[in-house]
Amino acid sequence: MSLPANEIVSALSALVGGDNVVGDVARMGAWLSEPRKRFHIAAAAVVTPPDVAAVQAVMRWAHENNVGIVPQGGNTGLVGAQVPRRGDEVILSLQKLDRIRSIDAAAGVMVAEAGTILENAHRAVEAEGAMFPLWLASQGSARIGGVLSSNAGGVNVLAYGNARELTMGVEAVLADGRLYNGLNALKKDNTGYDLKDLLVGAEGTLGIITAASLKLYPLPEDYETALVNIASPEAAFELFGLMRERAGSRLNAFELIPWIGLDIQLRHQMLDADPTASASPWYALIELTRMAGTAPGSLQSALEAAFEATLISDATMAESLADRTRMWAFREQMSECQSREGASIKHDVSVPIAAVPRLIAEGSAAVEKRVPGIRPVPFGHMGDGNIHFNFSQPVGADPKAFMAEYDEAVHEIIYDVVLKLGGSVSAEHGIGQLKVDLLKQVKDPVALEMMRAIKNALDPKGILNPGKMLG
Ligand SMILES: Cc1cc2nc3c(=O)[nH]c(=O)nc-3n(C[C@H](O)[C@H](O)[C@H](O)COP(=O)(O)OP(=O)(O)OC[C@H]3O[C@@H](n4cnc5c(N)ncnc54)[C@H](O)[C@@H]3O)c2cc1C
Repeated sequence: MSLPANEIVSALSALVGGDNVVGDVARMGAWLSEPRKRFHIAAAAVVTPPDVAAVQAVMRWAHENNVGIVPQGGNTGLVGAQVPRRGDEVILSLQKLDRIRSIDAAAGVMVAEAGTILENAHRAVEAEGAMFPLWLASQGSARIGGVLSSNAGGVNVLAYGNARELTMGVEAVLADGRLYNGLNALKKDNTGYDLKDLLVGAEGTLGIITAASLKLYPLPEDYETALVNIASPEAAFELFGLMRERAGSRLNAFELIPWIGLDIQLRHQMLDADPTASASPWYALIELTRMAGTAPGSLQSALEAAFEATLISDATMAESLADRTRMWAFREQMSECQSREGASIKHDVSVPIAAVPRLIAEGSAAVEKRVPGIRPVPFGHMGDGNIHFNFSQPVGADPKAFMAEYDEAVHEIIYDVVLKLGGSVSAEHGIGQLKVDLLKQVKDPVALEMMRAIKNALDPKGILNPGKMLG
Protein backbone atom coordinates (compact mmCIF):
# COMPACT_ATOMS: atom_id res chain seq x y z
CA MET A 1 0.00 0.00 0.00
CA SER A 2 1.74 3.16 -0.99
CA LEU A 3 0.85 5.74 -3.57
CA PRO A 4 2.66 9.07 -3.15
CA ALA A 5 0.55 11.62 -1.26
CA ASN A 6 0.37 14.03 -4.21
CA GLU A 7 -1.04 11.29 -6.45
CA ILE A 8 -3.60 10.41 -3.80
CA VAL A 9 -4.71 14.04 -3.51
CA SER A 10 -5.00 14.45 -7.31
CA ALA A 11 -6.93 11.21 -7.74
CA LEU A 12 -9.35 12.02 -4.93
CA SER A 13 -9.85 15.60 -6.19
CA ALA A 14 -10.69 14.23 -9.64
CA LEU A 15 -13.21 11.84 -8.09
CA VAL A 16 -15.06 14.06 -5.62
CA GLY A 17 -13.87 17.62 -6.32
CA GLY A 18 -10.97 19.59 -4.84
CA ASP A 19 -13.27 21.26 -2.26
CA ASN A 20 -13.76 17.87 -0.65
CA VAL A 21 -10.08 16.99 -0.29
CA VAL A 22 -7.41 18.34 2.09
CA GLY A 23 -3.81 17.48 1.19
CA ASP A 24 -1.98 20.08 3.25
CA VAL A 25 -0.97 18.58 6.63
CA ALA A 26 -1.03 22.04 8.23
CA ARG A 27 -4.82 22.13 7.59
CA MET A 28 -5.52 18.64 8.94
CA GLY A 29 -5.37 19.47 12.69
CA ALA A 30 -9.05 18.88 13.47
CA TRP A 31 -8.97 15.42 11.90
CA LEU A 32 -5.61 14.35 13.34
CA SER A 33 -5.68 15.51 16.94
CA GLU A 34 -7.50 12.84 18.95
CA PRO A 35 -8.66 13.18 22.59
CA ARG A 36 -6.02 10.92 24.15
CA LYS A 37 -3.19 12.81 22.37
CA ARG A 38 -1.33 9.53 21.91
CA PHE A 39 -1.47 9.00 18.15
CA HIS A 40 0.11 11.61 15.88
CA ILE A 41 0.59 10.26 12.35
CA ALA A 42 -0.46 12.67 9.56
CA ALA A 43 -2.66 11.29 6.77
CA ALA A 44 -1.80 11.41 3.07
CA ALA A 45 -5.12 13.24 2.63
CA VAL A 46 -8.50 13.90 4.24
CA VAL A 47 -11.53 13.39 2.02
CA THR A 48 -15.00 14.65 2.96
CA PRO A 49 -17.41 13.11 0.42
CA PRO A 50 -20.62 15.15 0.03
CA ASP A 51 -22.92 12.15 -0.59
CA VAL A 52 -23.15 8.37 -0.59
CA ALA A 53 -22.23 8.07 -4.27
CA ALA A 54 -18.98 9.94 -3.56
CA VAL A 55 -18.19 7.56 -0.66
CA GLN A 56 -18.69 4.67 -3.10
CA ALA A 57 -16.42 6.29 -5.68
CA VAL A 58 -13.65 6.79 -3.10
CA MET A 59 -13.89 3.18 -1.94
CA ARG A 60 -13.86 1.78 -5.50
CA TRP A 61 -10.70 3.80 -6.18
CA ALA A 62 -9.06 2.83 -2.86
CA HIS A 63 -9.82 -0.83 -3.54
CA GLU A 64 -8.27 -0.69 -7.01
CA ASN A 65 -5.19 1.14 -5.72
CA ASN A 66 -4.74 -0.61 -2.34
CA VAL A 67 -5.04 2.63 -0.37
CA GLY A 68 -5.86 2.37 3.35
CA ILE A 69 -9.01 4.27 4.36
CA VAL A 70 -9.62 5.44 7.93
CA PRO A 71 -13.31 6.28 8.44
CA GLN A 72 -13.90 9.18 10.81
CA GLY A 73 -16.95 10.75 12.46
CA GLY A 74 -16.51 13.34 15.21
CA ASN A 75 -12.96 12.23 16.11
CA THR A 76 -13.87 11.75 19.77
CA GLY A 77 -12.97 8.04 20.05
CA LEU A 78 -10.71 7.15 22.94
CA VAL A 79 -8.66 4.27 21.50
CA GLY A 80 -7.06 5.87 18.42
CA ALA A 81 -9.32 3.99 15.99
CA GLN A 82 -10.28 7.05 13.92
CA VAL A 83 -6.78 8.36 13.11
CA PRO A 84 -4.12 6.94 10.77
CA ARG A 85 -1.49 4.43 11.72
CA ARG A 86 0.62 5.16 8.61
CA GLY A 87 1.32 8.26 6.55
CA ASP A 88 -0.01 6.75 3.30
CA GLU A 89 -3.56 6.32 4.63
CA VAL A 90 -6.55 8.55 3.85
CA ILE A 91 -9.01 9.80 6.45
CA LEU A 92 -12.54 9.57 5.07
CA SER A 93 -14.64 11.95 7.14
CA LEU A 94 -18.42 11.48 7.02
CA GLN A 95 -19.00 15.02 8.30
CA LYS A 96 -20.85 16.20 5.16
CA LEU A 97 -23.38 13.37 5.26
CA ASP A 98 -25.32 15.02 8.05
CA ARG A 99 -28.97 14.92 6.94
CA ILE A 100 -31.71 13.42 9.03
CA ARG A 101 -33.63 11.63 6.31
CA SER A 102 -36.81 10.95 8.29
CA ILE A 103 -38.33 10.95 11.76
CA ASP A 104 -41.46 8.96 12.56
CA ALA A 105 -42.15 9.51 16.25
CA ALA A 106 -45.31 7.37 16.24
CA ALA A 107 -43.50 4.38 14.71
CA GLY A 108 -40.44 5.08 16.87
CA VAL A 109 -37.83 5.30 14.13
CA MET A 110 -35.50 7.89 12.64
CA VAL A 111 -33.17 7.54 9.67
CA ALA A 112 -30.05 9.65 10.14
CA GLU A 113 -26.97 9.94 8.00
CA ALA A 114 -23.63 8.91 9.47
CA GLY A 115 -22.30 12.45 9.83
CA THR A 116 -25.22 13.69 11.93
CA ILE A 117 -23.91 15.05 15.23
CA LEU A 118 -25.51 13.09 18.07
CA GLU A 119 -26.75 16.22 19.85
CA ASN A 120 -28.39 17.47 16.63
CA ALA A 121 -30.19 14.12 16.36
CA HIS A 122 -31.40 14.53 19.97
CA ARG A 123 -32.77 18.01 19.22
CA ALA A 124 -34.45 17.00 15.98
CA VAL A 125 -36.34 14.07 17.51
CA GLU A 126 -37.25 16.01 20.65
CA ALA A 127 -38.90 18.62 18.42
CA GLU A 128 -41.13 15.76 17.20
CA GLY A 129 -41.95 14.69 20.79
CA ALA A 130 -39.63 11.67 20.81
CA MET A 131 -36.28 10.72 22.30
CA PHE A 132 -33.13 9.00 21.03
CA PRO A 133 -31.76 7.78 24.35
CA LEU A 134 -28.00 7.66 23.80
CA TRP A 135 -26.19 10.27 25.84
CA LEU A 136 -22.42 10.73 26.01
CA ALA A 137 -20.31 13.60 27.30
CA SER A 138 -18.97 13.86 23.72
CA GLN A 139 -22.41 14.18 22.09
CA GLY A 140 -21.77 17.74 20.88
CA SER A 141 -19.09 16.39 18.50
CA ALA A 142 -19.62 12.61 18.15
CA ARG A 143 -21.47 11.61 14.97
CA ILE A 144 -23.97 8.82 14.39
CA GLY A 145 -21.59 6.72 12.24
CA GLY A 146 -18.82 6.92 14.86
CA VAL A 147 -21.18 6.26 17.73
CA LEU A 148 -22.50 3.13 16.00
CA SER A 149 -19.08 1.96 14.82
CA SER A 150 -17.74 2.13 18.36
CA ASN A 151 -21.01 0.69 19.77
CA ALA A 152 -21.00 3.51 22.27
CA GLY A 153 -22.69 3.14 25.62
CA GLY A 154 -23.06 6.16 27.86
CA VAL A 155 -25.22 6.93 30.84
CA ASN A 156 -28.58 5.40 29.86
CA VAL A 157 -27.53 1.91 28.73
CA LEU A 158 -29.24 0.59 31.84
CA ALA A 159 -32.70 1.48 30.54
CA TYR A 160 -32.26 1.62 26.75
CA GLY A 161 -29.16 -0.38 25.80
CA ASN A 162 -26.02 0.62 23.92
CA ALA A 163 -25.78 1.77 20.29
CA ARG A 164 -26.22 -1.76 18.92
CA GLU A 165 -29.50 -2.21 20.78
CA LEU A 166 -30.74 1.12 19.45
CA THR A 167 -29.99 0.33 15.81
CA MET A 168 -32.63 -1.24 13.56
CA GLY A 169 -30.72 -1.15 10.29
CA VAL A 170 -27.73 0.35 8.50
CA GLU A 171 -26.74 1.47 5.04
CA ALA A 172 -23.04 0.94 4.38
CA VAL A 173 -20.44 1.15 1.62
CA LEU A 174 -18.30 -1.97 1.44
CA ALA A 175 -14.55 -2.11 0.86
CA ASP A 176 -14.99 -2.44 -2.91
CA GLY A 177 -17.55 0.37 -3.17
CA ARG A 178 -20.73 -1.73 -3.27
CA LEU A 179 -23.68 -0.35 -1.29
CA TYR A 180 -25.34 -2.56 1.32
CA ASN A 181 -28.86 -1.29 1.80
CA GLY A 182 -29.97 -2.64 5.15
CA LEU A 183 -31.98 0.38 6.27
CA ASN A 184 -34.98 -1.51 7.51
CA ALA A 185 -37.16 -0.60 10.44
CA LEU A 186 -38.19 -4.12 11.44
CA LYS A 187 -38.39 -5.31 15.02
CA LYS A 188 -38.39 -8.87 13.78
CA ASP A 189 -36.28 -10.09 10.86
CA ASN A 190 -34.95 -13.63 10.93
CA THR A 191 -33.69 -13.82 7.37
CA GLY A 192 -30.16 -14.95 8.04
CA TYR A 193 -27.09 -13.44 9.68
CA ASP A 194 -27.60 -10.11 11.36
CA LEU A 195 -25.32 -7.95 9.22
CA LYS A 196 -26.21 -4.74 11.00
CA ASP A 197 -24.95 -6.20 14.27
CA LEU A 198 -21.69 -7.01 12.52
CA LEU A 199 -21.18 -3.48 11.19
CA VAL A 200 -22.13 -1.83 14.48
CA GLY A 201 -19.07 -1.99 16.75
CA ALA A 202 -16.73 -2.92 13.85
CA GLU A 203 -14.73 0.32 14.27
CA GLY A 204 -14.81 0.93 10.53
CA THR A 205 -12.96 -2.30 9.72
CA LEU A 206 -15.81 -3.98 7.78
CA GLY A 207 -17.60 -1.17 5.94
CA ILE A 208 -18.41 2.52 6.00
CA ILE A 209 -21.77 3.25 7.56
CA THR A 210 -23.50 6.01 5.60
CA ALA A 211 -26.89 6.02 7.37
CA ALA A 212 -28.80 4.14 10.05
CA SER A 213 -32.37 3.55 11.13
CA LEU A 214 -32.51 4.12 14.86
CA LYS A 215 -35.04 3.40 17.60
CA LEU A 216 -36.90 6.30 19.18
CA TYR A 217 -38.71 6.30 22.52
CA PRO A 218 -41.44 8.48 24.00
CA LEU A 219 -40.07 11.62 25.62
CA PRO A 220 -40.39 11.34 29.42
CA GLU A 221 -42.56 13.90 31.18
CA ASP A 222 -39.78 14.49 33.69
CA TYR A 223 -36.79 12.99 35.50
CA GLU A 224 -36.30 12.33 39.19
CA THR A 225 -32.62 12.65 40.05
CA ALA A 226 -30.70 12.27 43.31
CA LEU A 227 -27.15 12.13 44.60
CA VAL A 228 -26.97 9.73 47.53
CA ASN A 229 -24.29 9.01 50.11
CA ILE A 230 -23.18 5.41 50.39
CA ALA A 231 -20.54 3.78 52.55
CA SER A 232 -19.06 1.37 50.02
CA PRO A 233 -19.40 -0.26 46.58
CA GLU A 234 -21.04 -3.24 48.38
CA ALA A 235 -23.76 -0.90 49.66
CA ALA A 236 -24.04 0.56 46.15
CA PHE A 237 -24.70 -2.91 44.73
CA GLU A 238 -27.44 -3.57 47.30
CA LEU A 239 -28.94 -0.17 46.65
CA PHE A 240 -28.90 -0.89 42.92
CA GLY A 241 -30.94 -4.07 43.58
CA LEU A 242 -33.47 -2.12 45.61
CA MET A 243 -33.79 0.58 42.94
CA ARG A 244 -34.39 -2.02 40.24
CA GLU A 245 -37.06 -3.72 42.31
CA ARG A 246 -38.79 -0.39 42.85
CA ALA A 247 -38.35 1.25 39.44
CA GLY A 248 -37.76 -1.54 36.91
CA SER A 249 -37.02 -0.15 33.46
CA ARG A 250 -37.66 3.42 34.67
CA LEU A 251 -34.25 3.27 36.36
CA ASN A 252 -32.42 5.37 33.83
CA ALA A 253 -28.99 5.73 35.39
CA PHE A 254 -27.04 4.41 38.37
CA GLU A 255 -23.56 5.93 38.40
CA LEU A 256 -20.93 5.43 41.09
CA ILE A 257 -18.57 8.26 42.07
CA PRO A 258 -15.85 8.20 44.77
CA TRP A 259 -15.28 11.07 47.20
CA ILE A 260 -11.94 11.94 45.59
CA GLY A 261 -13.85 13.02 42.46
CA LEU A 262 -15.78 15.60 44.46
CA ASP A 263 -12.64 16.73 46.27
CA ILE A 264 -10.74 17.29 43.00
CA GLN A 265 -13.62 19.12 41.30
CA LEU A 266 -14.19 21.45 44.27
CA ARG A 267 -10.50 22.18 44.71
CA HIS A 268 -10.14 23.04 41.02
CA GLN A 269 -13.36 25.10 40.99
CA MET A 270 -14.97 22.89 38.37
CA LEU A 271 -18.37 23.08 40.11
CA ASP A 272 -20.24 26.28 40.94
CA ALA A 273 -21.54 24.64 44.15
CA ASP A 274 -21.20 21.34 46.01
CA PRO A 275 -23.98 19.14 44.54
CA THR A 276 -23.89 16.57 47.39
CA ALA A 277 -25.80 16.54 50.71
CA SER A 278 -22.70 15.98 52.84
CA ALA A 279 -19.30 14.29 52.86
CA SER A 280 -19.31 10.57 52.06
CA PRO A 281 -16.72 8.03 50.84
CA TRP A 282 -18.91 7.20 47.84
CA TYR A 283 -21.85 8.70 45.97
CA ALA A 284 -24.41 7.24 43.60
CA LEU A 285 -26.11 9.41 40.99
CA ILE A 286 -29.53 7.84 40.48
CA GLU A 287 -32.10 8.87 37.93
CA LEU A 288 -35.61 7.65 37.17
CA THR A 289 -37.74 8.64 34.21
CA ARG A 290 -41.33 9.74 34.80
CA MET A 291 -43.69 9.15 31.93
CA ALA A 292 -46.78 11.23 31.14
CA GLY A 293 -49.74 10.50 33.43
CA THR A 294 -47.67 9.09 36.32
CA ALA A 295 -47.29 10.78 39.69
CA PRO A 296 -43.92 12.05 40.92
CA GLY A 297 -42.34 10.71 44.11
CA SER A 298 -41.09 7.21 43.19
CA LEU A 299 -37.45 8.07 43.78
CA GLN A 300 -38.20 9.83 47.07
CA SER A 301 -40.06 6.78 48.45
CA ALA A 302 -37.37 4.35 47.20
CA LEU A 303 -34.70 6.43 48.93
CA GLU A 304 -36.71 6.44 52.16
CA ALA A 305 -36.77 2.63 52.02
CA ALA A 306 -33.01 2.62 51.34
CA PHE A 307 -32.45 4.92 54.33
CA GLU A 308 -34.48 2.62 56.60
CA ALA A 309 -32.45 -0.34 55.35
CA THR A 310 -29.29 1.68 56.22
CA LEU A 311 -28.08 1.45 52.63
CA ILE A 312 -27.72 5.21 52.37
CA SER A 313 -26.82 7.78 55.00
CA ASP A 314 -27.89 11.00 53.30
CA ALA A 315 -29.21 12.20 49.94
CA THR A 316 -30.06 15.27 47.95
CA MET A 317 -32.82 15.35 45.35
CA ALA A 318 -32.69 17.63 42.31
CA GLU A 319 -35.42 20.25 42.84
CA SER A 320 -34.84 22.05 39.55
CA LEU A 321 -33.25 21.65 36.14
CA ALA A 322 -30.25 23.59 37.47
CA ASP A 323 -29.81 21.03 40.28
CA ARG A 324 -30.04 18.15 37.84
CA THR A 325 -27.56 19.81 35.48
CA ARG A 326 -25.11 20.35 38.34
CA MET A 327 -25.35 16.72 39.46
CA TRP A 328 -24.73 15.48 35.94
CA ALA A 329 -21.86 17.93 35.46
CA PHE A 330 -20.26 16.42 38.58
CA ARG A 331 -20.52 12.97 36.97
CA GLU A 332 -19.54 14.02 33.44
CA GLN A 333 -16.45 15.91 34.63
CA MET A 334 -15.03 12.84 36.38
CA SER A 335 -12.75 11.97 33.49
CA GLU A 336 -11.54 15.50 32.80
CA CYS A 337 -10.95 16.39 36.47
CA GLN A 338 -8.14 13.88 36.79
CA SER A 339 -6.04 15.76 34.26
CA ARG A 340 -5.96 18.68 36.75
CA GLU A 341 -4.06 16.43 39.16
CA GLY A 342 -1.29 15.38 36.76
CA ALA A 343 -1.06 12.04 34.95
CA SER A 344 -3.54 9.21 35.27
CA ILE A 345 -3.66 5.59 34.16
CA LYS A 346 -7.06 4.69 32.74
CA HIS A 347 -9.08 1.53 32.17
CA ASP A 348 -12.53 1.08 30.65
CA VAL A 349 -13.52 -2.32 31.99
CA SER A 350 -16.62 -4.31 32.87
CA VAL A 351 -17.39 -7.23 35.15
CA PRO A 352 -20.66 -8.93 36.13
CA ILE A 353 -22.46 -6.32 38.24
CA ALA A 354 -22.24 -8.36 41.45
CA ALA A 355 -18.44 -8.41 41.06
CA VAL A 356 -18.00 -4.61 40.92
CA PRO A 357 -17.22 -4.32 44.67
CA ARG A 358 -14.54 -7.03 44.37
CA LEU A 359 -13.09 -5.39 41.25
CA ILE A 360 -12.71 -2.08 43.06
CA ALA A 361 -11.41 -3.57 46.33
CA GLU A 362 -8.95 -6.05 44.84
CA GLY A 363 -7.81 -3.78 42.01
CA SER A 364 -7.21 -0.79 44.30
CA ALA A 365 -5.36 -2.85 46.93
CA ALA A 366 -3.07 -4.53 44.39
CA VAL A 367 -2.22 -1.26 42.61
CA GLU A 368 -1.68 0.65 45.88
CA LYS A 369 0.72 -2.08 46.98
CA ARG A 370 2.68 -1.76 43.72
CA VAL A 371 2.65 2.07 43.55
CA PRO A 372 2.70 3.69 47.00
CA GLY A 373 0.69 6.93 47.11
CA ILE A 374 -1.24 6.27 43.89
CA ARG A 375 -4.85 7.48 44.08
CA PRO A 376 -7.60 5.13 42.83
CA VAL A 377 -10.46 6.97 41.06
CA PRO A 378 -12.93 4.22 40.06
CA PHE A 379 -16.20 5.66 38.77
CA GLY A 380 -18.90 5.14 36.19
CA HIS A 381 -21.73 2.99 35.03
CA MET A 382 -22.20 0.74 38.08
CA GLY A 383 -25.58 -0.36 36.76
CA ASP A 384 -23.88 -1.87 33.68
CA GLY A 385 -20.92 -3.33 35.60
CA ASN A 386 -18.80 -0.84 33.60
CA ILE A 387 -16.24 0.99 35.71
CA HIS A 388 -13.75 3.55 34.45
CA PHE A 389 -11.04 2.27 36.78
CA ASN A 390 -8.58 5.15 36.75
CA PHE A 391 -5.59 5.97 38.93
CA SER A 392 -4.22 9.45 39.53
CA GLN A 393 -0.51 9.86 40.13
CA PRO A 394 0.76 10.30 43.70
CA VAL A 395 0.68 13.95 44.80
CA GLY A 396 3.89 15.67 43.74
CA ALA A 397 5.13 12.87 41.45
CA ASP A 398 6.62 13.75 38.07
CA PRO A 399 3.87 12.89 35.52
CA LYS A 400 6.22 11.62 32.79
CA ALA A 401 8.31 9.50 35.15
CA PHE A 402 5.15 8.12 36.76
CA MET A 403 3.70 7.02 33.40
CA ALA A 404 7.00 5.59 32.18
CA GLU A 405 7.47 3.52 35.31
CA TYR A 406 3.96 2.38 36.13
CA ASP A 407 1.60 2.54 33.11
CA GLU A 408 2.17 -1.05 31.91
CA ALA A 409 2.40 -2.52 35.42
CA VAL A 410 -0.92 -0.99 36.51
CA HIS A 411 -2.66 -2.15 33.33
CA GLU A 412 -1.44 -5.67 33.95
CA ILE A 413 -2.70 -5.70 37.53
CA ILE A 414 -6.14 -4.39 36.64
CA TYR A 415 -6.64 -6.60 33.58
CA ASP A 416 -5.66 -9.66 35.66
CA VAL A 417 -8.34 -8.84 38.22
CA VAL A 418 -10.90 -8.11 35.49
CA LEU A 419 -10.25 -11.42 33.70
CA LYS A 420 -10.29 -13.37 36.97
CA LEU A 421 -13.77 -11.93 37.63
CA GLY A 422 -15.03 -12.90 34.15
CA GLY A 423 -14.96 -9.35 32.80
CA SER A 424 -14.02 -7.46 29.63
CA VAL A 425 -10.89 -5.35 29.06
CA SER A 426 -12.86 -2.94 26.87
CA ALA A 427 -16.39 -2.24 28.01
CA GLU A 428 -17.45 0.63 25.77
CA HIS A 429 -14.48 2.41 24.19
CA GLY A 430 -13.35 -0.37 21.83
CA ILE A 431 -9.97 -1.68 20.68
CA GLY A 432 -8.67 0.75 18.02
CA GLN A 433 -4.88 0.98 18.06
CA LEU A 434 -4.63 1.14 21.83
CA LYS A 435 -5.63 -2.41 22.70
CA VAL A 436 -4.66 -4.45 19.62
CA ASP A 437 -2.00 -6.46 21.48
CA LEU A 438 -4.19 -6.85 24.53
CA LEU A 439 -7.04 -8.26 22.43
CA LYS A 440 -4.72 -10.91 21.00
CA GLN A 441 -3.71 -11.92 24.51
CA VAL A 442 -7.12 -12.14 26.12
CA LYS A 443 -9.69 -13.00 23.45
CA ASP A 444 -10.76 -16.59 22.93
CA PRO A 445 -8.57 -17.91 20.03
CA VAL A 446 -11.58 -19.33 18.18
CA ALA A 447 -13.35 -15.97 18.44
CA LEU A 448 -10.24 -14.30 16.98
CA GLU A 449 -10.22 -16.79 14.07
CA MET A 450 -13.90 -16.09 13.38
CA MET A 451 -13.26 -12.34 13.46
CA ARG A 452 -10.32 -12.67 11.04
CA ALA A 453 -12.42 -14.81 8.67
CA ILE A 454 -15.16 -12.17 8.61
CA LYS A 455 -12.62 -9.40 8.02
CA ASN A 456 -11.00 -11.31 5.14
CA ALA A 457 -14.36 -12.03 3.52
CA LEU A 458 -15.55 -8.41 3.60
CA ASP A 459 -12.22 -6.64 3.13
CA PRO A 460 -9.82 -9.09 1.44
CA LYS A 461 -7.25 -6.36 0.67
CA GLY A 462 -7.29 -5.03 4.24
CA ILE A 463 -7.89 -1.41 3.18
CA LEU A 464 -10.60 -0.57 5.75
CA ASN A 465 -9.04 0.97 8.85
CA PRO A 466 -5.81 -1.05 8.47
CA GLY A 467 -4.18 -2.35 11.63
CA LYS A 468 -7.07 -1.44 13.89
CA MET A 469 -8.77 -3.96 16.16
CA LEU A 470 -7.23 -7.16 14.73
CA GLY A 471 -3.80 -5.66 14.06
C1 LIG B 1 -15.51 13.43 26.63
C2 LIG B 1 -15.82 12.06 26.06
C3 LIG B 1 -16.77 11.27 26.67
C4 LIG B 1 -17.07 10.01 26.16
N1 LIG B 1 -18.02 9.26 26.79
C5 LIG B 1 -18.31 8.04 26.34
C6 LIG B 1 -19.29 7.25 26.99
O1 LIG B 1 -19.87 7.61 27.99
N2 LIG B 1 -19.56 6.04 26.46
C7 LIG B 1 -18.93 5.58 25.33
O2 LIG B 1 -19.23 4.48 24.88
N3 LIG B 1 -17.98 6.31 24.72
C8 LIG B 1 -17.66 7.52 25.18
N4 LIG B 1 -16.70 8.25 24.56
C9 LIG B 1 -16.00 7.67 23.41
C10 LIG B 1 -16.97 7.41 22.28
O3 LIG B 1 -16.62 6.22 21.62
C11 LIG B 1 -17.08 8.48 21.25
O4 LIG B 1 -17.34 9.71 21.84
C12 LIG B 1 -18.13 8.25 20.14
O5 LIG B 1 -18.87 7.08 20.23
C13 LIG B 1 -17.38 8.19 18.85
O6 LIG B 1 -18.05 8.94 17.90
P1 LIG B 1 -17.23 9.78 16.82
O7 LIG B 1 -18.20 10.24 15.82
O8 LIG B 1 -16.39 10.80 17.45
O9 LIG B 1 -16.33 8.63 16.17
P2 LIG B 1 -14.80 8.69 15.77
O10 LIG B 1 -13.96 8.93 16.96
O11 LIG B 1 -14.62 9.59 14.64
O12 LIG B 1 -14.61 7.17 15.29
C14 LIG B 1 -14.77 6.11 16.18
C15 LIG B 1 -14.64 4.79 15.40
O13 LIG B 1 -15.69 4.67 14.46
C16 LIG B 1 -15.16 4.59 13.13
N5 LIG B 1 -16.09 5.33 12.28
C17 LIG B 1 -16.46 6.62 12.40
N6 LIG B 1 -17.43 6.90 11.52
C18 LIG B 1 -17.66 5.76 10.83
C19 LIG B 1 -18.56 5.40 9.80
N7 LIG B 1 -19.43 6.27 9.31
N8 LIG B 1 -18.51 4.14 9.31
C20 LIG B 1 -17.64 3.23 9.81
N9 LIG B 1 -16.78 3.52 10.79
C21 LIG B 1 -16.80 4.76 11.31
C22 LIG B 1 -13.77 5.13 13.21
O14 LIG B 1 -12.94 4.61 12.19
C23 LIG B 1 -13.37 4.66 14.59
O15 LIG B 1 -13.03 3.31 14.51
C24 LIG B 1 -16.38 9.53 25.03
C25 LIG B 1 -15.41 10.33 24.42
C26 LIG B 1 -15.13 11.58 24.93
C27 LIG B 1 -14.08 12.41 24.25
